[in-house]
Amino acid sequence: MKVDVAIVGAGMAGVMAASVLQKAGKDVLLIDKGKSVGGRMATRRIEQGKVDHGAQFFTVRTEDFQRYVDQWVVNGQVKEWFGNPYKRYCGTNGMNGLIKYLAKDVEMKLNTRIVKISKETDGWLLYGEQGEIAQAKNVIFTPPAPQIIDILKESREGNDLVPKLQDITFNPCFVAILKLHEPINLSDSGHLDEYLPDGMERMVDHQAKGISSLPTVSIYMEGTWSKKHYEENDDTVLQLILEKASTYIHKDDIEVKQLKRWRYAEAKTTLNSPFINQDSLYVAGDAFLREDDSAGRTRVESAFLSGIAVGNAVLNKA
Ligand SMILES: Cc1cc2nc3c(=O)[nH]c(=O)nc-3n(C[C@H](O)[C@H](O)[C@H](O)COP(=O)(O)OP(=O)(O)OC[C@H]3O[C@@H](n4cnc5c(N)ncnc54)[C@H](O)[C@@H]3O)c2cc1C
Repeated sequence: MKVDVAIVGAGMAGVMAASVLQKAGKDVLLIDKGKSVGGRMATRRIEQGKVDHGAQFFTVRTEDFQRYVDQWVVNGQVKEWFGNPYKRYCGTNGMNGLIKYLAKDVEMKLNTRIVKISKETDGWLLYGEQGEIAQAKNVIFTPPAPQIIDILKESREGNDLVPKLQDITFNPCFVAILKLHEPINLSDSGHLDEYLPDGMERMVDHQAKGISSLPTVSIYMEGTWSKKHYEENDDTVLQLILEKASTYIHKDDIEVKQLKRWRYAEAKTTLNSPFINQDSLYVAGDAFLREDDSAGRTRVESAFLSGIAVGNAVLNKA
């Protein structure tokens, strides 16, 4: 398959880059190792219930993002969840539902992990675990930096980008995902991030959030706690989290429990540039911030802005 642009990573950054390029008439292929689009905007079913277990919400600091968010609210893909004066928005059908909506007209290859690229006379060849996947004039990478470094280390080209990518480091995050027998009352909105036990960042009741018909909860652990316990097995980690959560949720109230490990959840260090490139090889994503970024940290909005910026850069170069 030959395309103008191959985009690796179908999270917010990759999907926005694809949307910019496709609207301008470019042939685009979006490739992701996951079985669904969304990346860290992740939603899963647990029994007949639903949980967001990556980003829970997003905030808006720029007019560029606000314009899109307003439209998504009108289209019914996004709603204001809580927060005054700083609004927290979430997907009406889960965070992943928004990315599915944004990617609906984009050509995609899922369940495909890119392991290597090679430079050809008129572009790039992208290889998956089983061999050649696509040929593209331009390539945009949007996975977390350590995963891009792994690909570039297997490739002969693109190594000039590695030192900059090595400056981006990530914290991990554990998320416990629960289906309960009975509804729970954490707060009116269902979001709780105050007065929690040490190491715990937030708890979310998805029934109160409005995305699950049944009582489901996700419990987020802080980066330092997650890092400390990262090498322990799932059962041990889940048990530690549930012990900490026992003042809110009794073990007998839990019907199903699962653990999600995010090795690369939130960047500890970022770059002050919305993307980087070496010729027709581009890298973007949430850790690539605008120079004037007022938050200074990775988030859904930074992924969105980076995706738009890299899409426009590829267009302007052509
Ligand atoms: C637990 C958690 C909580 C968070 N909470 C919030 C929050 O409340 N608010 C907020 O604004 N942000 C939050 N974030 C951050 C937010 O989710 C991210 O900033 C944003 O979604 C990143 O988008 P992205 O497109 O840059 O990267 P990603 O969403 O990570 O997309 C990268 C994609 O690349 C794919 N990929 C990786 N390697 C390969 C490969 N070799 N081949 C093919 N595909 C590959 C991955 O499968 C993934 O889909 C949270 C993140 C986590 C993990």
